[in-house]
Amino acid sequence: MYKVPRGTADILPQEQAYWRFVQGKAEALCHLYGYQRLDTPVFEDAGLFIRTIGPTTDIVEKEMYTFQDRGGKQLTLRPEGTAPVCRAYLEHGLNNLPQPVKLYYFASIYRYERPQKGRYREHHQFGFESIGDADPALDAEAIDLAWQFYSSLSLKGLSLKLNSIGCRACRPDYIKRLRQYYEPHISGLCPDCRERLEKNSLRLLDCKQASCQRLALEAPKSTDHLCPACKSHFDALKVQLEALRLPYDLDHRLVRGLDYYTRTVFEVQPPEEGAQSTLGGGGRYDDLIEELGGRPTPAVGFATGMERVVLSLKKADLPLPPIPQPRIFVAYAGEENRDQALALLYELRRAGIGVTGAPVGKSLRAQLRQADALGMAQALILGEEEMRSGTVLLRNLATGEQVILPRPQLISHLRPT
Ligand code: AMP
Repeated sequence: MYKVPRGTADILPQEQAYWRFVQGKAEALCHLYGYQRLDTPVFEDAGLFIRTIGPTTDIVEKEMYTFQDRGGKQLTLRPEGTAPVCRAYLEHGLNNLPQPVKLYYFASIYRYERPQKGRYREHHQFGFESIGDADPALDAEAIDLAWQFYSSLSLKGLSLKLNSIGCRACRPDYIKRLRQYYEPHISGLCPDCRERLEKNSLRLLDCKQASCQRLALEAPKSTDHLCPACKSHFDALKVQLEALRLPYDLDHRLVRGLDYYTRTVFEVQPPEEGAQSTLGGGGRYDDLIEELGGRPTPAVGFATGMERVVLSLKKADLPLPPIPQPRIFVAYAGEENRDQALALLYELRRAGIGVTGAPVGKSLRAQLRQADALGMAQALILGEEEMRSGTVLLRNLATGEQVILPRPQLISHLRPT
């Protein structure tokens, strides 16, 4: 028997109410804030990701699904959503539209990780990007939209972490200081961080190992080493977040796993802390579009893992709007009436009334048992008597109450008012 590949999952019918609920809230908010949907392919040129995410990041070094197609091209299954959006922005000349261009997406994401709860090899992200404007008002808008998204799902006890990691002018000096701080403590670092110190030193700050965390607490803070432009951008952002009453906490250890971030970074975390718990995160990436060959184009974005949001919703045990299903079962007494029952089934569907039933070769009793098992509210029964008199019997399956309806009145009787 085949099974789903390790780290992937089927989203079964009973799970769909969660996904639909989350997507509905996300989409409604994006439209409210003026974001438009963009869909990009599941795979792209490998170079797009290597260049933007950064060749020394965990994603590029260890996690990408890269393959050669039959034409000899190196392709990669999308390991994140932002670079493809920027590629599309450039490819379709969206830089010629009034800026910023605001886009959102739902995308499947592929990373070869060690699967565990909340961490999969295929997961799904809802994300949005606001491209073409450096104003901190757009960082504030992205953070607000992310926060309103979780609030609209009634998720409680979340925290909003904020940091600024500077730009290409001020970050190199900060990284030098960070290395100077860590060098005397090398023996106290985990093996991964010892390796990262040279090539990706920012990531030492968010290592989840206890010994590294202790060291990170005392590490120099990027916000103490910002250039004047980054400092005033960050100050203006904080003022705007306060005006929006967004309850952020500054966290100097927040850096994020992709190299393209500049200035603002933020994350939303659920009440229980843990490596696999971050619900969503984002930030500014002012150099990414230039890296892809465009003119310097500042941008800011956010993405959240749908599976983690669904896990949080399940934990919160909130009632969800059900997915509409047929509540009426068409049954027949006597095989000779089945064709008429089938005709009625389709007549009702054409009229916009959800119905199911009329299975082959079952007694009326067996059909009604099936209707019960399916949780139907009502059954429409066609028997000899109904055929003769041009009527249908409508039975309430919960109470057993029955009414006889003339066929011409049936649709108006059943149509929801
Ligand atoms: P990132 O693209 O790493 O910034 O991740 C954005 C969000 O996607 C995270 O906050 C998680 O909610 C989710 N996420 C990232 N990686 C995984 C994964 N392997 N499995 C499930 N969700 C993930």
